[in-house]
Amino acid sequence: MSQGVCVVTGGGRGIGAATCLRLARDGWDVCLSWTSREDAAARVAAACRDAGARTAVVRADVSRESDVTALFAAATELGPVRGLVNNAGSLGRQSRVEDLEAARVERTVAVNLVGAILCARAAVRAMSTRWGGSGGAIVNVSSRAAVLGGPEEYVDYAAAKAGVDALTVGLAKEVAADRIRVNAVRPGLIRTDIHASGGEPGRVDRLAPSVPMGRGGEPEEVAASVAWLLSAESSYVTGSILDVAGGR
Ligand code: NAP
Repeated sequence: MSQGVCVVTGGGRGIGAATCLRLARDGWDVCLSWTSREDAAARVAAACRDAGARTAVVRADVSRESDVTALFAAATELGPVRGLVNNAGSLGRQSRVEDLEAARVERTVAVNLVGAILCARAAVRAMSTRWGGSGGAIVNVSSRAAVLGGPEEYVDYAAAKAGVDALTVGLAKEVAADRIRVNAVRPGLIRTDIHASGGEPGRVDRLAPSVPMGRGGEPEEVAASVAWLLSAESSYVTGSILDVAGGR
C-alpha cells in the first residue's frame, strides 16, 4: 500500500534524486520538482516508476510562491500528501562576505530559506488535521554549514541554512498537535554537483582528510536518514536536527 505522496524539491539531482529513489522503494509516491534540469528529473521519475511509485514532475522554483502553489496542486492530484522533503538548495561562488553582491545574497536566502518556508506552508495546509488532512512529516535539508559558518566560502548560504534549523524547531512545535512532525538533516561533505556550482568541483576531495571518518558522504547516505525521519519508525521524533556528516 502507498505511504502517500511525498514532495521532494530539487529531486532531479544529488541528494534529492537519491531521496526520490529511496522513497519510491519504501512505498511512497513521489512528486519531484526541477528548475534547470528537466532531463535529470525525468530520469529520476522513470526510475521511481520502475520501483513501483506513481510520480509527478513539476517545474517549480521554490522561491516563487506561484510555483510552489502549482507544485502542491500537482502533488495533491497524485494522492494525499503526507510528506515534504525541503531539499532544493543553491549557493553562489566561493567568496568572502566583504565581496558579496546584494543580488546574490538575496537569491541565496530566497532559495534556501524563503523557499523552504513557502514549501513548508503548503505542506502544512495539505497535511494538517486543522486543514482537514491526516498528518504527515516534513524533513528540511539544512547543512553543517549552519553550524560551521562557511567562512571564506559562503557565509550567506550558512546563514540561510541556520534559518532552516530555526524553521525546523519552531514549526515542529507549532504543528506537533496537528499530527505533523518536522525534522532536519544537516549533511556534511556529500558528493554532488553543488560544489562545482560554488566554483570548486574537487572540494569534497580537498576537505575529506578533515572529516573524522576520513571521507566524503554519498547522496544515498543522506537519503537513508531522510527516509527514516519521514517513516513511522521515527514516530516520536520532532524538532530534531540530525547531522549526517561523518563526524565533521
Ligand atoms: P545539487 O546536486 O546541486 O542539486 C540541487 C538541486 O536543487 C537540483 O535538483 C536543483 O534543480 C535544485 N534547485 C536549485 N535551485 C532551485 C530552486 N530555486 N528551486 C527549486 N529547485 C532548485 O545539490 P545537492 O548537494 O544535492 O543539494 C541538495 C540539498 O542538500 C541542498 O539544500 C544543499 O544545500 C544541501 N546540502 C548539500 C551538501 C553537499 O555537500 N552536497 C551539504 C550540505 C547541504 P535542477 O536539477 O533543476 O537544477
